[in-house]
Amino acid sequence: SKEKGGNVPQFFNESMRNRFQERLLIENALREAVEKGCFELFYQPKTGAGKVTSMEALLRWQDPVLGFVSPSTFIPIAEEIGLILQIDEWSLVQACRQNKRWHDQGLKRIPISANLSAKHFQQDYLVSMIEKVLDESGMAPEYLKLEITESVFINNPKHVAEVIHKLKSLGVLISIDDFGKGYSSLYQLLQLPIDEIKIDRQFIKDIDHNEKKALLVASILDIARGLQLNVVAEGVETEKEKDLLVQMGCDELQGYLFSRPINEKHMVKFLSVEDKS
Ligand code: C2E
Ligand code: CA
Ligand code: CA
Ligand code: CA
Repeated sequence: SKEKGGNVPQFFNESMRNRFQERLLIENALREAVEKGCFELFYQPKTGAGKVTSMEALLRWQDPVLGFVSPSTFIPIAEEIGLILQIDEWSLVQACRQNKRWHDQGLKRIPISANLSAKHFQQDYLVSMIEKVLDESGMAPEYLKLEITESVFINNPKHVAEVIHKLKSLGVLISIDDFGKGYSSLYQLLQLPIDEIKIDRQFIKDIDHNEKKALLVASILDIARGLQLNVVAEGVETEKEKDLLVQMGCDELQGYLFSRPINEKHMVKFLSVEDKS
């Protein structure tokens, strides 16, 4: 911990033992969850001009012993122990099948976004996997948006650019998640065939009383408009944040103010209420 001086080595104390044991428990439970398919996919609607315009698929894991484990806890572990490829593929399959079912039921057609770990970009399998998932689900590719973080560009940006071009040629959309949080060069990033950026929650929180954040977001929106990128604001929690972002011309808003991530049954309601354009 910070109080004890950061990375200074310590004795293997009780709290470390507990953390180590907890970590092992999660690892083992995670392996079992992957084998048995113990995950559920939730959906968080995004809005534009007061209407639902798209949604993000987010994993939920309820372990019989550990209870609810947050994706911010288990996704990094899954990345470390090599389970993330299977987990993301599961999410993608569910997301595409579900959206296709909703289309077939005559519900509002909107794109579904799925999160892709940076680990996929060290793999040749990614493009053919996405192609296979699209084929098998029968969902039109323009309704799938892949959310990737800037961290993919740290290693081998040339290779990553190639993969992104290939993904685009399948007809899917590409979104840069947690925009502004990463370390990539803006120039390099914006040279790629990207459709959307999602401004990280840290820049949105309290934007209505933080002039620097407001200035920063306004500049991002300016650049994005010039490049014809769709811009999503993440983590919109208050009316005031919403009002300012709408006034600034942000395309889509996502956050607890409008809806938390919800299960399939609740999502259906959002897809039923409005005009089915
Ligand atoms: P993310 O991709 O940035 O997803 C947005 C996170 O912000 C979600 O957390 C969502 O529930 C939360 N959120 C949405 N609106 C608000 C808000 O107004 N306020 C606050 N405080 N939070 C809000 P969640 O579902 O816990 O997921 C955490 C992270 O786990 C995600 O961050 C994503 O990086 C990762 N993740 C989730 N599902 C998957 C998946 O299927 N594959 C991969 N690779 N990563 C996933
Ligand atoms: Ca995301
Ligand atoms: Ca995000
Ligand atoms: Ca985030």
